[in-house]
Amino acid sequence: MTTPMREMDRRLLMDRSVPGRRAVALPESDVPAQPMPDATLLRDDLPLPEIAQLEVIRYFSLLSQLNFSIDTNFYPLGSCTMKYNPKLNDAIASLPGFANIHPNQPAEQVQGAVQLMYELQEALGDLTGLPGVSLAPLAGAQGEYAGLLIARAYHARRNDSARTVAIVPDSAHGTNPASAAMAGLEVVTVPSDASGNVDVDALRSLTDERTAVFMLTMPSTLGLFEPSILEITQIVHSAGGLVYADGANLNALLGMVRLGDLGVDICHSNLHKTFSTPHGGGGPGSGPVMVTEELASFLPEPVAAKSGDTYTLDTPEHSVGKINGFHGSFSILARAYTYIRAMGRDGLKAVAENAILNANYIQAQLKDRFDLAADRYCMHETVLSATRQRKRGVKGLDIAKRLLDHGIHAPTMYFPLIVDEALMVEPTETESKETLDRFIEVMRQIDDEVTSDPETVRTAPHTLPVTRLDEAAAARKPYLRWQE
Ligand SMILES: *Cc1c(COP(=O)(O)O)cnc(C)c1O
Repeated sequence: MTTPMREMDRRLLMDRSVPGRRAVALPESDVPAQPMPDATLLRDDLPLPEIAQLEVIRYFSLLSQLNFSIDTNFYPLGSCTMKYNPKLNDAIASLPGFANIHPNQPAEQVQGAVQLMYELQEALGDLTGLPGVSLAPLAGAQGEYAGLLIARAYHARRNDSARTVAIVPDSAHGTNPASAAMAGLEVVTVPSDASGNVDVDALRSLTDERTAVFMLTMPSTLGLFEPSILEITQIVHSAGGLVYADGANLNALLGMVRLGDLGVDICHSNLHKTFSTPHGGGGPGSGPVMVTEELASFLPEPVAAKSGDTYTLDTPEHSVGKINGFHGSFSILARAYTYIRAMGRDGLKAVAENAILNANYIQAQLKDRFDLAADRYCMHETVLSATRQRKRGVKGLDIAKRLLDHGIHAPTMYFPLIVDEALMVEPTETESKETLDRFIEVMRQIDDEVTSDPETVRTAPHTLPVTRLDEAAAARKPYLRWQE
């Protein structure tokens, strides 16, 4: 962070208030005054900031600059794919014909939008090898939930309702067991073996006539390709279960491997990770669910369809129903569609190649300083471990905080849980070699500092508007509003 930020006016909006100042001059009211509600419902006093327009604009512009964002800084947050979102996507999603339609408009009035949904379904089906697609889920986790409802509905229709168990690896993304529990399944954990793969023998002994589904994050949360995937899908299928793949981050697979070809029956993907749509701050997400042809009749509604030249929004025959009010996050769908069309098939394959190359470059350049969760080629992310640094009195958390002083967002920390002092780094395909080299240099510099000046690392960050927080108090007693 550079000095201008340190010198900025840090006063809160309320502290900038001067009685009588106004940001806007309202016109004289031209409607009759209405009687006030019962006085007991009214407040005597409502402290609002009184501020001129320029001050308001400066205040909020400065606040926005305090945010760390992919548009301003390198953001190597593993398991989250924080990559560049081309501005073209926004331009297309903002076209009035897309931006101004109402979700209750019938499909025949918004053929262009439904065509976009249809073609996006086709593209996602094609990329995953799973041709049944619903764009309805509003997040990755909701895609998982929808996929698990589909698995349940499939077994129930076959009068196989004793299948109530979801088997989930211990390396799974946290939403996987949570979604399974929400879908009414019992979660059974399968351990990973010493090299970070699913323990296939353990999986074999856990699968039986109660297995509804096996959920695998692909690539795994260790950033690894599961080498036994074909054996795994075969074991689960021969026990009568379905295979679910969490494809939230498909960056390493696009155009290279199709989940359907590996025996996966159901997957979701996060458009707000893999398909370059904005991500973070709890904003709108999108987690389409993709299934085999056999499972397509269970998809949540609506599913866009085409007959002749007409596009419709349909309810599949055995649909698990609606999982949100309308058709999914349409503006996110428009962005992902634009990205896929702009990249083309070869472009998407290059995404995978570069995502893998960048992660392995970082891993190779740092493995003499940091331990690795698995010492083998990674896919789109590498999981480092700060165990060597901890022996010198500095934790992974401290290293993550110190990176902030260098204008680099912290990697994902302490996840996956099975790796001690994990620092999970995902550079993504969109970063230049110069950015990667700078990150590597900073990481090596911090490692030197762990030896020469551990206190500076332990007390980082030093240059940000907010320095080291008391994390327990920040979570338990947050200040959420202005206090005098
Ligand atoms: C982000 C992520 C999810 C959850 O996606 P949300 O949109 O945050 O609900 C699930 N699985 C994996 C592997 C992820 O990285």
